[in-house]
Amino acid sequence: MSSSTDPTSAAYKAAVENLGLKPNIAKALEIPDRELQVEIPFRKDNGEIDSVIGFRVQHNNTRGPFKGGIRYHHHVDIDEVRSLATLMTWKTSLVDIPYGGGKGGIGMNPGDYSETELERISRRFFRAIDPIIGVNIDIPAPDVNTNAQVMSWFMDEYSQLHGYSPAIVTGKPLELGGSEGREAATGRGTAIITRETAEKWGIELKGAKVVIQGFGNVGSYTAKFLDEYGCKIIGVSDISGGLYDPNGFNVPELFDYNYKNRTIDGFEQGKKISNEELLALECDFLIPAALGSAINESNVDSLNCKVIIEAANGPVTGEAANKLWKRKIAIIPDILTNAGGVTVSYFEWVQNLQQFKWTEDEVNKKLEDKMVQAFKEVHDVKVKQKIPMRIASFMVAIDRVERSYTLRGG
Ligand code: NAD
Repeated sequence: MSSSTDPTSAAYKAAVENLGLKPNIAKALEIPDRELQVEIPFRKDNGEIDSVIGFRVQHNNTRGPFKGGIRYHHHVDIDEVRSLATLMTWKTSLVDIPYGGGKGGIGMNPGDYSETELERISRRFFRAIDPIIGVNIDIPAPDVNTNAQVMSWFMDEYSQLHGYSPAIVTGKPLELGGSEGREAATGRGTAIITRETAEKWGIELKGAKVVIQGFGNVGSYTAKFLDEYGCKIIGVSDISGGLYDPNGFNVPELFDYNYKNRTIDGFEQGKKISNEELLALECDFLIPAALGSAINESNVDSLNCKVIIEAANGPVTGEAANKLWKRKIAIIPDILTNAGGVTVSYFEWVQNLQQFKWTEDEVNKKLEDKMVQAFKEVHDVKVKQKIPMRIASFMVAIDRVERSYTLRGG
């Protein structure tokens, strides 16, 4: 099963071909600049010594410092980190922020360790990758199972070695130089992209029926902003299952309930449905905001939406995407849809470097401009070349990196 997070996916290859990239340049852009694997020995709470393995892959820094999150998950290995680092190169290029692509991770289940053990692992990991990171070299961020607390430990560890350096990581708490608007940024960006899509696809935004799979950070904020645009959120789900209300949910109440309880389970509106039933609901926009490969060959034929907005990373497999293209169901790809997160991470870094703080309105206005511009560029290519948005996104992103790469002489 191929995933859209696979940097050598059919869409990526089609983009390279459409751009007429020379094979030597295409090959050079696929090879990561540097891959580091580190052992992380640490003392457990019971006094025993244990160790885990960490990775940092720096894919390409032609357009600026490497940028990308650090995830803690037992699936993390060098191949996964490499693909995600590569995708970050295209994502940062697509929204035209002066970064390259990187990613990191530790192969472990964080649930197996106490908070104090996680702190020791995190600090030791950051020390281990210290030789290759820096505020103008490589700037990590949170990803799956890492958060503002982990970023605080990273920032503190780095600052102990190099002096006060908030710009070494993004996704920090506000108290340590985090940015206003970061928490909501990916959902806000997803809502903006949905709004722009509605206009181009001739779908009336007011009253448009929306179904959202996953109600965590991205899904819940996406619902909040689409509700503010006048959309009708008729289906939502999380790990506990789905809820359906054809009249549309009271989103502010659902958002607050979920924010407080960290689940939609028990919310007193709508009918309980399964995750499979949720995906099959008739709607204008289906927004997968949970897992990779959530829409695959086993369920793609049941889909009943006009457009899929990929808020999660890689939620539609390559095989499913081909079938959807034939059915004229459009897919707005992840590297465009969820780029709001890294965009506001960039704003955080800029504020840290300037030692200056922007208001939330300033952040949101700048995010809006970036997302609208990126959507327009991708859509123009899509229309001109009569190709899917996913291939058009890769074309815009790869072209920008290739031009910088060639100007710099490789
Ligand atoms: P999160 O952990 O806050 O939320 C995940 C949500 O998905 C939760 O509501 C969880 O219950 C739900 N979920 C898990 N398994 C499910 C299942 N089988 N069926 C239905 N729902 C399920 O994560 P998040 O930060 O919202 O990220 C969601 C996706 O967006 C991920 O793919 C992530 O990589 C991607 N993403 C996030 C950001 C960001 O800024 N948070 C940025 C870019 C991409």
